[in-house]
Amino acid sequence: MSADFCPSPNDRRLLTRDEALALLLSHCRPLTDLETVPTEDGLGRVLASPVTSRIPVPGWDNSAMDGYAVRAADLAADDGWLPVAQRIPAGRTGEPLARGTAARIFTGAPIPAGADTVAIQERCERDGDRVRVPVDTAVGANIRLAGEDITPGAEVIAAGTRLAPQHLGLAASVGCPELRVYRRLRVAIFASGDELVMPGEPLAPGQIYNSNRFILRGLLQGLGCEVIDLGIVRDSPEATEEALSRGAAESDLVLASGGVSVGEEDHVKPAVERLGSLDLWNLAIRPGKPVAFGHVAGTPFLGSPGNPVSLFTTFCLFARPFVLRMQGVAGDLAPRVLVTRAGFDWPRPDKRLELHRARLQTGADGRTEAVVHPSRSSAVLSSVAWAEGFVEIPERQVLAKGDPVAFIPFDSLLH
Ligand code: AMP
Ligand code: MG
Repeated sequence: MSADFCPSPNDRRLLTRDEALALLLSHCRPLTDLETVPTEDGLGRVLASPVTSRIPVPGWDNSAMDGYAVRAADLAADDGWLPVAQRIPAGRTGEPLARGTAARIFTGAPIPAGADTVAIQERCERDGDRVRVPVDTAVGANIRLAGEDITPGAEVIAAGTRLAPQHLGLAASVGCPELRVYRRLRVAIFASGDELVMPGEPLAPGQIYNSNRFILRGLLQGLGCEVIDLGIVRDSPEATEEALSRGAAESDLVLASGGVSVGEEDHVKPAVERLGSLDLWNLAIRPGKPVAFGHVAGTPFLGSPGNPVSLFTTFCLFARPFVLRMQGVAGDLAPRVLVTRAGFDWPRPDKRLELHRARLQTGADGRTEAVVHPSRSSAVLSSVAWAEGFVEIPERQVLAKGDPVAFIPFDSLLH
Protein backbone atom coordinates (compact mmCIF):
# COMPACT_ATOMS: atom_id res chain seq x y z
CA MET A 1 0.00 0.00 0.00
CA SER A 2 1.23 3.45 -0.75
CA ALA A 3 1.84 5.67 2.25
CA ASP A 4 1.93 8.85 0.20
CA PHE A 5 -0.58 10.75 2.22
CA CYS A 6 -0.07 9.36 5.69
CA PRO A 7 1.99 11.55 7.99
CA SER A 8 4.88 9.32 8.93
CA PRO A 9 6.16 9.10 12.50
CA ASN A 10 9.64 8.83 10.97
CA ASP A 11 9.42 12.11 9.14
CA ARG A 12 12.49 13.38 10.94
CA ARG A 13 14.61 10.81 9.13
CA LEU A 14 13.30 11.48 5.64
CA LEU A 15 15.94 12.14 3.00
CA THR A 16 15.71 15.38 1.09
CA ARG A 17 15.63 15.29 -2.67
CA ASP A 18 19.18 16.59 -2.90
CA GLU A 19 20.52 14.08 -0.37
CA ALA A 20 18.84 11.19 -2.16
CA LEU A 21 20.07 12.37 -5.55
CA ALA A 22 23.65 12.81 -4.37
CA LEU A 23 23.57 9.35 -2.78
CA LEU A 24 22.12 7.82 -5.91
CA LEU A 25 24.60 9.44 -8.26
CA SER A 26 27.50 8.37 -6.05
CA HIS A 27 26.56 4.79 -7.06
CA CYS A 28 26.31 5.56 -10.76
CA ARG A 29 28.88 4.14 -13.19
CA PRO A 30 28.69 5.55 -16.72
CA LEU A 31 28.79 3.11 -19.62
CA THR A 32 32.23 2.37 -21.01
CA ASP A 33 31.17 0.77 -24.32
CA LEU A 34 31.48 3.14 -27.23
CA GLU A 35 30.47 2.93 -30.86
CA THR A 36 30.82 4.93 -34.03
CA VAL A 37 27.72 6.14 -35.85
CA PRO A 38 27.26 8.17 -39.03
CA THR A 39 26.70 11.81 -38.09
CA GLU A 40 23.19 11.70 -39.51
CA ASP A 41 22.27 8.92 -37.08
CA GLY A 42 23.63 10.71 -34.03
CA LEU A 43 20.40 12.36 -32.87
CA GLY A 44 19.85 11.80 -29.14
CA ARG A 45 23.10 9.91 -28.66
CA VAL A 46 25.70 11.02 -26.13
CA LEU A 47 29.03 12.07 -27.55
CA ALA A 48 31.99 10.14 -26.12
CA SER A 49 34.88 11.87 -27.91
CA PRO A 50 34.78 15.61 -28.51
CA VAL A 51 34.32 16.91 -32.03
CA THR A 52 37.21 19.15 -32.99
CA SER A 53 37.60 21.09 -36.18
CA ARG A 54 40.56 20.83 -38.53
CA ILE A 55 39.32 23.75 -40.58
CA PRO A 56 38.45 27.36 -39.91
CA VAL A 57 34.79 28.27 -40.25
CA PRO A 58 34.19 30.29 -42.32
CA GLY A 59 37.00 28.92 -44.44
CA TRP A 60 37.68 32.37 -45.97
CA ASP A 61 36.37 35.90 -45.73
CA ASN A 62 32.96 35.84 -47.36
CA SER A 63 29.99 38.02 -48.02
CA ALA A 64 27.20 38.11 -45.46
CA MET A 65 24.78 39.64 -47.97
CA ASP A 66 23.87 39.88 -51.62
CA GLY A 67 25.47 43.13 -52.80
CA TYR A 68 28.68 44.64 -54.15
CA ALA A 69 32.23 44.06 -52.93
CA VAL A 70 34.38 47.17 -53.12
CA ARG A 71 37.46 48.82 -51.78
CA ALA A 72 36.01 51.51 -49.47
CA ALA A 73 38.75 53.96 -50.43
CA ASP A 74 37.56 53.86 -54.08
CA LEU A 75 34.12 55.27 -53.25
CA ALA A 76 35.08 58.92 -52.95
CA ALA A 77 36.31 59.40 -56.54
CA ASP A 78 32.98 59.51 -58.42
CA ASP A 79 30.30 59.84 -55.73
CA GLY A 80 30.30 56.05 -55.25
CA TRP A 81 29.94 55.13 -58.94
CA LEU A 82 32.08 52.15 -59.97
CA PRO A 83 32.10 49.81 -62.98
CA VAL A 84 30.94 46.25 -62.11
CA ALA A 85 33.92 44.21 -63.29
CA GLN A 86 32.98 40.70 -62.17
CA ARG A 87 30.25 38.54 -60.71
CA ILE A 88 30.94 36.11 -57.82
CA PRO A 89 28.11 33.71 -56.86
CA ALA A 90 28.47 31.35 -53.87
CA GLY A 91 30.64 28.37 -54.76
CA ARG A 92 32.98 30.37 -57.04
CA THR A 93 36.09 32.36 -56.37
CA GLY A 94 36.50 35.74 -58.09
CA GLU A 95 39.51 37.56 -59.50
CA PRO A 96 41.45 40.05 -57.38
CA LEU A 97 39.45 43.28 -57.36
CA ALA A 98 40.96 45.78 -59.79
CA ARG A 99 41.31 49.32 -58.38
CA GLY A 100 38.25 51.45 -58.95
CA THR A 101 35.89 48.53 -59.68
CA ALA A 102 33.11 46.71 -57.88
CA ALA A 103 32.27 42.99 -57.87
CA ARG A 104 28.67 41.80 -57.87
CA ILE A 105 28.69 39.31 -54.97
CA PHE A 106 26.23 36.92 -53.34
CA THR A 107 25.82 35.65 -49.80
CA GLY A 108 28.51 33.13 -48.91
CA ALA A 109 30.78 33.94 -51.86
CA PRO A 110 34.46 34.59 -51.12
CA ILE A 111 35.49 38.23 -50.87
CA PRO A 112 37.89 38.89 -53.78
CA ALA A 113 41.42 39.92 -52.86
CA GLY A 114 41.63 43.68 -52.49
CA ALA A 115 37.98 44.21 -51.49
CA ASP A 116 37.38 45.27 -47.90
CA THR A 117 33.67 46.11 -47.81
CA VAL A 118 30.34 44.78 -49.03
CA ALA A 119 27.46 47.15 -49.67
CA ILE A 120 24.05 45.49 -49.59
CA GLN A 121 22.19 45.53 -52.87
CA GLU A 122 19.17 47.34 -51.43
CA ARG A 123 21.34 50.41 -50.79
CA CYS A 124 23.00 50.40 -54.24
CA GLU A 125 21.83 51.90 -57.51
CA ARG A 126 22.52 49.83 -60.60
CA ASP A 127 22.79 51.39 -64.02
CA GLY A 128 23.87 48.97 -66.74
CA ASP A 129 27.48 47.99 -66.06
CA ARG A 130 27.85 50.50 -63.29
CA VAL A 131 26.76 50.62 -59.70
CA ARG A 132 26.53 53.42 -57.22
CA VAL A 133 27.57 52.35 -53.74
CA PRO A 134 26.69 54.68 -50.84
CA VAL A 135 29.89 56.54 -49.99
CA ASP A 136 29.16 56.20 -46.26
CA THR A 137 29.36 52.37 -46.37
CA ALA A 138 31.54 51.44 -43.39
CA VAL A 139 34.85 49.74 -44.11
CA GLY A 140 34.54 46.01 -43.39
CA ALA A 141 30.72 46.01 -43.57
CA ASN A 142 28.93 42.72 -44.32
CA ILE A 143 32.05 40.57 -44.38
CA ARG A 144 32.20 37.35 -42.38
CA LEU A 145 35.84 36.84 -41.50
CA ALA A 146 37.70 33.55 -41.94
CA GLY A 147 37.71 31.61 -38.68
CA GLU A 148 35.39 34.04 -36.87
CA ASP A 149 33.10 31.19 -35.88
CA ILE A 150 35.59 28.32 -35.45
CA THR A 151 39.37 28.28 -35.51
CA PRO A 152 41.33 25.18 -36.61
CA GLY A 153 41.90 22.81 -33.68
CA ALA A 154 38.98 24.18 -31.67
CA GLU A 155 36.71 21.78 -29.80
CA VAL A 156 33.24 22.41 -31.14
CA ILE A 157 31.22 19.80 -29.24
CA ALA A 158 32.29 18.53 -25.84
CA ALA A 159 32.25 14.87 -24.84
CA GLY A 160 29.20 14.17 -22.73
CA THR A 161 26.86 16.26 -24.86
CA ARG A 162 23.51 14.77 -25.81
CA LEU A 163 23.34 15.41 -29.52
CA ALA A 164 20.52 17.64 -30.73
CA PRO A 165 19.94 18.57 -34.39
CA GLN A 166 22.08 21.70 -34.02
CA HIS A 167 25.04 19.58 -32.82
CA LEU A 168 24.72 17.28 -35.83
CA GLY A 169 24.70 20.32 -38.09
CA LEU A 170 27.74 21.73 -36.34
CA ALA A 171 29.64 18.44 -36.64
CA ALA A 172 28.77 18.36 -40.33
CA SER A 173 29.90 21.99 -40.75
CA VAL A 174 33.42 21.02 -39.74
CA GLY A 175 33.35 18.01 -42.05
CA CYS A 176 32.83 15.29 -39.46
CA PRO A 177 31.18 12.27 -41.17
CA GLU A 178 30.86 10.08 -38.06
CA LEU A 179 30.68 10.41 -34.33
CA ARG A 180 32.06 8.44 -31.42
CA VAL A 181 29.16 7.91 -29.00
CA TYR A 182 28.25 5.83 -25.98
CA ARG A 183 26.25 2.77 -26.87
CA ARG A 184 22.57 2.98 -26.06
CA LEU A 185 21.65 2.29 -22.45
CA ARG A 186 19.56 -0.86 -22.05
CA VAL A 187 16.91 -0.49 -19.39
CA ALA A 188 14.68 -3.33 -18.24
CA ILE A 189 11.29 -2.35 -16.87
CA PHE A 190 8.49 -4.17 -15.17
CA ALA A 191 5.27 -3.28 -13.39
CA SER A 192 4.46 -5.33 -10.35
CA GLY A 193 0.93 -5.90 -9.13
CA ASP A 194 -1.68 -8.65 -9.25
CA GLU A 195 -4.31 -6.04 -10.07
CA LEU A 196 -2.71 -5.03 -13.39
CA VAL A 197 -3.94 -5.93 -16.86
CA MET A 198 -3.03 -4.56 -20.23
CA PRO A 199 -5.30 -2.32 -22.31
CA GLY A 200 -7.22 -4.52 -24.72
CA GLU A 201 -7.87 -7.12 -22.03
CA PRO A 202 -11.15 -7.18 -20.11
CA LEU A 203 -11.08 -5.75 -16.59
CA ALA A 204 -12.18 -8.18 -13.89
CA PRO A 205 -13.40 -6.74 -10.58
CA GLY A 206 -10.51 -5.20 -8.68
CA GLN A 207 -8.29 -4.89 -11.74
CA ILE A 208 -6.83 -1.76 -13.29
CA TYR A 209 -4.92 -1.07 -16.46
CA ASN A 210 -1.15 -0.98 -16.35
CA SER A 211 -0.49 2.65 -17.13
CA ASN A 212 2.99 2.76 -15.63
CA ARG A 213 4.42 0.59 -18.38
CA PHE A 214 3.48 3.24 -20.91
CA ILE A 215 4.82 6.08 -18.80
CA LEU A 216 8.14 4.32 -18.22
CA ARG A 217 8.59 3.25 -21.82
CA GLY A 218 7.86 6.75 -23.03
CA LEU A 219 10.16 8.41 -20.54
CA LEU A 220 13.01 6.04 -21.36
CA GLN A 221 12.52 6.25 -25.10
CA GLY A 222 12.60 10.02 -24.78
CA LEU A 223 16.02 9.66 -23.19
CA GLY A 224 17.21 7.47 -26.05
CA CYS A 225 17.28 4.19 -24.10
CA GLU A 226 16.67 0.72 -25.44
CA VAL A 227 13.75 -0.59 -23.40
CA ILE A 228 13.53 -4.25 -22.42
CA ASP A 229 9.95 -4.66 -21.31
CA LEU A 230 9.43 -7.50 -18.86
CA GLY A 231 5.71 -6.80 -18.64
CA ILE A 232 3.50 -7.28 -15.62
CA VAL A 233 4.98 -9.21 -12.73
CA ARG A 234 2.67 -10.96 -10.30
CA ASP A 235 2.84 -10.25 -6.59
CA SER A 236 4.81 -13.36 -5.65
CA PRO A 237 8.40 -13.84 -4.52
CA GLU A 238 9.15 -16.24 -7.38
CA ALA A 239 7.79 -14.06 -10.18
CA THR A 240 9.50 -11.01 -8.76
CA GLU A 241 12.88 -12.76 -8.42
CA GLU A 242 12.60 -14.12 -11.93
CA ALA A 243 11.90 -10.68 -13.41
CA LEU A 244 14.72 -9.12 -11.45
CA SER A 245 17.22 -11.79 -12.47
CA ARG A 246 16.23 -11.58 -16.11
CA GLY A 247 16.30 -7.81 -16.08
CA ALA A 248 19.70 -7.74 -14.42
CA ALA A 249 21.13 -10.21 -16.94
CA GLU A 250 19.78 -8.43 -20.01
CA SER A 251 20.16 -4.76 -19.13
CA ASP A 252 22.32 -2.03 -17.65
CA LEU A 253 19.60 -0.84 -15.28
CA VAL A 254 16.38 -2.30 -13.95
CA LEU A 255 13.42 -0.05 -13.20
CA ALA A 256 10.32 -1.33 -11.46
CA SER A 257 7.05 0.27 -10.54
CA GLY A 258 5.03 -0.83 -7.54
CA GLY A 259 5.73 -3.28 -4.79
CA VAL A 260 8.42 -1.27 -3.03
CA SER A 261 6.46 -0.35 0.05
CA VAL A 262 6.66 -2.56 3.08
CA GLY A 263 3.27 -4.27 2.99
CA GLU A 264 3.18 -8.05 2.72
CA GLU A 265 2.09 -7.76 -0.93
CA ASP A 266 5.19 -5.72 -1.72
CA HIS A 267 7.61 -8.34 -2.99
CA VAL A 268 10.13 -6.23 -4.79
CA LYS A 269 12.02 -5.05 -1.74
CA PRO A 270 12.61 -8.53 -0.19
CA ALA A 271 13.35 -10.04 -3.61
CA VAL A 272 16.07 -7.49 -4.37
CA GLU A 273 17.47 -8.05 -0.89
CA ARG A 274 17.65 -11.79 -1.52
CA LEU A 275 19.35 -11.37 -4.89
CA GLY A 276 21.59 -8.46 -4.05
CA SER A 277 21.35 -5.38 -1.92
CA LEU A 278 18.74 -2.70 -1.41
CA ASP A 279 18.18 0.57 0.37
CA LEU A 280 14.70 1.87 0.85
CA TRP A 281 14.62 5.63 1.01
CA ASN A 282 11.81 7.52 2.57
CA LEU A 283 11.93 10.87 0.91
CA ALA A 284 10.82 14.26 2.10
CA ILE A 285 8.98 14.82 -1.16
CA ARG A 286 5.39 14.59 -2.21
CA PRO A 287 4.49 12.60 -4.18
CA GLY A 288 7.04 9.88 -4.31
CA LYS A 289 7.83 8.21 -1.08
CA PRO A 290 9.36 5.62 -0.94
CA VAL A 291 12.02 4.94 -3.55
CA ALA A 292 14.16 1.81 -3.56
CA PHE A 293 17.70 1.62 -4.84
CA GLY A 294 19.93 -1.40 -4.97
CA HIS A 295 21.80 -3.87 -7.10
CA VAL A 296 20.84 -7.24 -8.52
CA ALA A 297 23.81 -9.30 -9.70
CA GLY A 298 25.79 -6.09 -10.10
CA THR A 299 23.09 -4.32 -12.12
CA PRO A 300 21.63 -1.20 -10.54
CA PHE A 301 17.97 -1.32 -9.61
CA LEU A 302 15.55 1.53 -8.98
CA GLY A 303 12.06 0.90 -7.73
CA SER A 304 9.32 3.50 -7.67
CA PRO A 305 5.96 3.57 -5.97
CA GLY A 306 3.12 2.17 -8.05
CA ASN A 307 0.95 5.23 -8.00
CA PRO A 308 1.41 6.71 -11.48
CA VAL A 309 1.98 10.29 -10.37
CA SER A 310 4.62 9.11 -7.90
CA LEU A 311 6.22 7.00 -10.60
CA PHE A 312 6.37 9.91 -13.01
CA THR A 313 7.71 12.27 -10.37
CA THR A 314 10.35 9.96 -8.95
CA PHE A 315 11.46 9.09 -12.47
CA CYS A 316 11.98 12.76 -13.24
CA LEU A 317 13.78 13.42 -9.98
CA PHE A 318 15.95 10.32 -9.67
CA ALA A 319 15.80 7.82 -12.53
CA ARG A 320 16.33 10.50 -15.16
CA PRO A 321 19.59 11.90 -13.77
CA PHE A 322 20.78 8.36 -13.05
CA VAL A 323 20.05 7.35 -16.65
CA LEU A 324 21.72 10.49 -18.01
CA ARG A 325 24.86 9.87 -15.98
CA MET A 326 24.97 6.20 -17.04
CA GLN A 327 24.59 7.31 -20.65
CA GLY A 328 27.69 9.45 -20.29
CA VAL A 329 25.99 12.85 -20.12
CA ALA A 330 28.42 15.26 -18.49
CA GLY A 331 27.85 18.35 -16.41
CA ASP A 332 24.80 19.53 -14.62
CA LEU A 333 21.94 17.05 -14.74
CA ALA A 334 19.40 19.32 -13.13
CA PRO A 335 16.36 20.23 -15.19
CA ARG A 336 15.73 23.80 -16.17
CA VAL A 337 13.99 25.80 -13.47
CA LEU A 338 12.06 28.97 -14.27
CA VAL A 339 11.11 31.39 -11.56
CA THR A 340 7.54 32.51 -12.03
CA ARG A 341 4.74 33.68 -9.77
CA ALA A 342 2.29 31.54 -7.85
CA GLY A 343 -1.18 31.87 -9.32
CA PHE A 344 -2.53 30.13 -6.23
CA ASP A 345 -2.42 30.28 -2.45
CA TRP A 346 -0.68 27.60 -0.42
CA PRO A 347 -1.73 28.41 3.12
CA ARG A 348 -0.75 25.20 4.92
CA PRO A 349 2.95 24.41 5.09
CA ASP A 350 4.02 20.81 4.63
CA LYS A 351 7.01 18.99 6.04
CA ARG A 352 7.91 17.74 2.58
CA LEU A 353 8.88 19.37 -0.67
CA GLU A 354 5.79 19.31 -2.86
CA LEU A 355 6.12 18.82 -6.61
CA HIS A 356 2.73 19.95 -7.70
CA ARG A 357 1.43 19.50 -11.23
CA ALA A 358 1.17 22.94 -12.73
CA ARG A 359 0.54 24.98 -15.82
CA LEU A 360 1.66 28.41 -16.84
CA GLN A 361 -0.98 30.95 -17.71
CA THR A 362 -1.22 34.67 -18.23
CA GLY A 363 -2.53 36.34 -15.10
CA ALA A 364 -4.97 39.23 -14.94
CA ASP A 365 -2.07 41.72 -15.05
CA GLY A 366 -0.69 40.15 -18.22
CA ARG A 367 2.24 38.45 -16.49
CA THR A 368 2.92 34.73 -16.42
CA GLU A 369 1.89 32.73 -13.37
CA ALA A 370 1.76 29.07 -12.41
CA VAL A 371 -1.53 27.46 -11.52
CA VAL A 372 -1.82 24.03 -9.93
CA HIS A 373 -4.12 21.11 -10.58
CA PRO A 374 -6.89 20.78 -8.00
CA SER A 375 -5.82 17.24 -7.10
CA ARG A 376 -2.73 16.50 -5.02
CA SER A 377 -3.37 12.77 -5.17
CA SER A 378 -0.54 10.59 -6.40
CA ALA A 379 -3.11 8.36 -8.10
CA VAL A 380 -4.59 11.07 -10.35
CA LEU A 381 -2.63 10.60 -13.54
CA SER A 382 -4.85 13.06 -15.40
CA SER A 383 -3.19 15.80 -13.33
CA VAL A 384 0.14 15.02 -15.02
CA ALA A 385 -1.43 14.91 -18.46
CA TRP A 386 -3.09 18.28 -17.74
CA ALA A 387 0.13 19.85 -16.51
CA GLU A 388 3.06 21.42 -18.34
CA GLY A 389 5.46 21.08 -15.46
CA PHE A 390 5.97 20.94 -11.74
CA VAL A 391 5.94 23.81 -9.33
CA GLU A 392 8.24 23.26 -6.40
CA ILE A 393 6.82 24.21 -3.07
CA PRO A 394 9.64 23.95 -0.55
CA GLU A 395 9.05 22.16 2.74
CA ARG A 396 7.54 24.27 5.51
CA GLN A 397 6.61 27.04 3.14
CA VAL A 398 3.37 28.94 2.72
CA LEU A 399 2.68 30.83 -0.48
CA ALA A 400 0.31 33.58 -1.41
CA LYS A 401 -0.79 34.41 -4.91
CA GLY A 402 1.95 36.46 -6.55
CA ASP A 403 4.85 34.98 -4.55
CA PRO A 404 7.82 33.76 -6.59
CA VAL A 405 7.77 30.04 -7.25
CA ALA A 406 10.04 27.63 -9.13
CA PHE A 407 8.55 25.93 -12.19
CA ILE A 408 10.18 22.93 -13.89
CA PRO A 409 8.84 22.52 -17.44
CA PHE A 410 8.15 18.90 -18.37
CA ASP A 411 9.78 19.46 -21.73
CA SER A 412 13.12 19.93 -20.00
CA LEU A 413 12.59 16.58 -18.21
CA LEU A 414 11.47 14.44 -21.08
CA HIS A 415 14.67 14.28 -23.08
P1 AMP B 1 2.08 -0.23 -4.81
O1 AMP B 1 3.23 0.71 -4.88
O2 AMP B 1 2.34 -1.55 -5.45
O3 AMP B 1 1.60 -0.34 -3.40
O4 AMP B 1 0.90 0.44 -5.63
C1 AMP B 1 0.35 1.68 -5.23
C2 AMP B 1 -0.87 2.02 -6.09
O5 AMP B 1 -0.46 2.18 -7.44
C3 AMP B 1 -1.95 0.97 -6.09
O6 AMP B 1 -3.18 1.62 -6.12
C4 AMP B 1 -1.71 0.24 -7.39
O7 AMP B 1 -2.87 -0.37 -7.88
C5 AMP B 1 -1.24 1.35 -8.30
N1 AMP B 1 -0.40 0.79 -9.35
C6 AMP B 1 0.63 -0.04 -9.17
N2 AMP B 1 1.20 -0.37 -10.34
C7 AMP B 1 0.51 0.29 -11.29
C8 AMP B 1 0.61 0.36 -12.71
N3 AMP B 1 1.55 -0.33 -13.36
N4 AMP B 1 -0.25 1.14 -13.39
C9 AMP B 1 -1.20 1.83 -12.70
N5 AMP B 1 -1.34 1.81 -11.38
C10 AMP B 1 -0.51 1.04 -10.66
MG1 MG C 1 1.33 -3.37 -5.48
